[in-house]
Amino acid sequence: MTNIEKHSYDVVVIGAGGAGLRAAIEARQQGMRTAIICKSLFGKAHTVMAEGGAAAAMGNVNSKDNWQVHFRDTMRGGKFLNHWRMAELHAREAPQRIWELETYGALFDRTKDGKISQRNFGGHEYPRLAHVGDRTGLELIRTLQQKIVSLQQDDQREHGDFEKYLRVFHEVTVSELLKDGDRISGAFGYARDDGRFLLFEAPAVVLATGGIGKSFQVTSNSWEYTGDGHALALRAGGTLVNMEFVQFHPTGMVWPPSVKGILVTESVRGDGGVLTNSEGKRFMFDYIPDVFKDKYATSEEEADRWYTDADNNRRPPELLPRDEVARAINSEVKAGRGSPHGGVYLDVSKRLPADEIRRRLPSMYHQFKELADVDITAEPMEVGPTCHYVMGGIEVDPDSQAAVGVSGLFAAGEVSGGMHGSNRLGGNSLSDLLVFGRRAGSYAAEYVTGLEGRPSVLDSDVEAAVSFALAPLSREDGENPYQVQLDLQKTMHELVGIIRKAPEIENALSTLVALRERASTVSAVGGRTYNPGWHVALDLRNLLVVAECVARAALIREESRGGHTRDDFPEMSAHWRQRNLICSLAKDEPGVTVREQPLPTMPVELLSLFERTELSKYLTDEELSVLASSPE
Ligand code: FAD
Repeated sequence: MTNIEKHSYDVVVIGAGGAGLRAAIEARQQGMRTAIICKSLFGKAHTVMAEGGAAAAMGNVNSKDNWQVHFRDTMRGGKFLNHWRMAELHAREAPQRIWELETYGALFDRTKDGKISQRNFGGHEYPRLAHVGDRTGLELIRTLQQKIVSLQQDDQREHGDFEKYLRVFHEVTVSELLKDGDRISGAFGYARDDGRFLLFEAPAVVLATGGIGKSFQVTSNSWEYTGDGHALALRAGGTLVNMEFVQFHPTGMVWPPSVKGILVTESVRGDGGVLTNSEGKRFMFDYIPDVFKDKYATSEEEADRWYTDADNNRRPPELLPRDEVARAINSEVKAGRGSPHGGVYLDVSKRLPADEIRRRLPSMYHQFKELADVDITAEPMEVGPTCHYVMGGIEVDPDSQAAVGVSGLFAAGEVSGGMHGSNRLGGNSLSDLLVFGRRAGSYAAEYVTGLEGRPSVLDSDVEAAVSFALAPLSREDGENPYQVQLDLQKTMHELVGIIRKAPEIENALSTLVALRERASTVSAVGGRTYNPGWHVALDLRNLLVVAECVARAALIREESRGGHTRDDFPEMSAHWRQRNLICSLAKDEPGVTVREQPLPTMPVELLSLFERTELSKYLTDEELSVLASSPE
């Protein structure tokens, strides 16, 4: 049999972004022998790219903020499709997780009186994002890595071995989860540099693999976000919830072509940037939906006053949730009022002095100067929507993050679903990673502690994983995997993108079937050493299955809500608000199955945090009757 490097751990964490690192720290602190595996270099997860900040209702800048207001904003942003319990836990625990980061050594920007500073962001009622300029993710990752190193130093002091309880395997891609009956027994993967195979025997696995952005053509996501965790969970018998909800961030770079899709942080708008079309019109005033009418300014004068007097004025419409702004930009460009390169203008130069822009938005300043030769302190940026985040993900128990249907499997961060409903608010991901990463690590440890015997890895499963991995290398004259990947991305971009309609989605689904056929015959030229073509060939299976989940669910959900806009069903529907769409894989059959599942019912005490008039925009009369019969 092929040579395989073998390891044994209590908890294997797949992914070294914020969610994975926080989970690993927790599992290790509870005495688990823990491995962290990541596809790219340690420190190069998406989390490091996060710019704007982490949302937590600490009330440092406006003392009216508290967890209840954050919970309300999150549910509103997700258009009431969020799992209420996840949104509640997140809002309650986020402040503790941010303060805890400071005990690990993080240093956030401060207010004048020395508290952690918090900035405005779309959909958040009060300034709420703890930040470090526009490089918050870097500080988060730096701090979590530092904590890991300090735990390893403890182990060196106590046991003479840095890696006794915590080891990082970087540039290793997990391609298969292994099971013993219904229970997880380990993971199989390959090293990206020399192509050697690795087997991890472990009773608990935490998936923290991030998003699926690379299934679309224009994306802020980097090469490694191919929906691996989503696909691994499906193949292990887990389920995905609401995969139709994909967030198109309103502001990505549109020019030059080589950088198309790279993110322009929402902080630009939070710090006063305005959006205009080719006629110079500040168009967002024309796109305030009814459900938000009473919360957003209807004139430029009021919007401008809000920056200095937020208590007595309504917010500028540029700070509407991302789905609204992305659709508005899309409409302006389609109506022929776009910028020369197919976007709109975003201008902060008339709002803030040049020094202040360079201080508050250093990465944006450099990004535009170096990549597009645009000086954002003096001229507007050209921006347009870019695929950014997936709200859908692995269906989990909200408290423990245990994956539904697979014992020993846990998921946290972007790869898990439910928390953000149909649309994520900016800043809610970084706090989600910390809150649910910690929970996943803790419950994985509890699960392992409670086990009577360790599950075993079956040789036949390992052999199957090896032969799948080697197949593209042994095929001759097969198709180029990059071409299949490109065609897949184009299909999703054009047919299941920001605005969707039934015939186009159906077209995408039949193209995906053909692409699945093509993917099964791709060949990778060369051997196992440093062979990115081989890696793309292996990623295709995951990209295809997540793309199919998105498309199938998008076809079934006949309404428009958050990150899912149907041209043929432009309204939100009370019927669909009560339903989650659950994707699974049928045994031994290609293709994804989707079924409807009722949403969990929100308890009355949480419903009571909202005005009845607001709830009536989302909930049915029957749902509202609970409120009528409860004490006011
Ligand atoms: P990631 O940080 O994406 O990490 C995933 C990890 O999984 C990586 O280590 C990867 O190598 C590994 N992995 C993937 N597949 C495999 C595999 N098969 N085998 C082994 N390892 C694997 N959110 C906010 O809240 N605030 C912001 O300001 C913000 N700004 C953003 C800016 C940009 C440019 C981007 C792209 C996103 C931003 N987000 C922001 C979103 C947020 O950063 C991400 O949602 C979040 O970081 C995801 O964290 P994660 O821990 O779930 O996964």
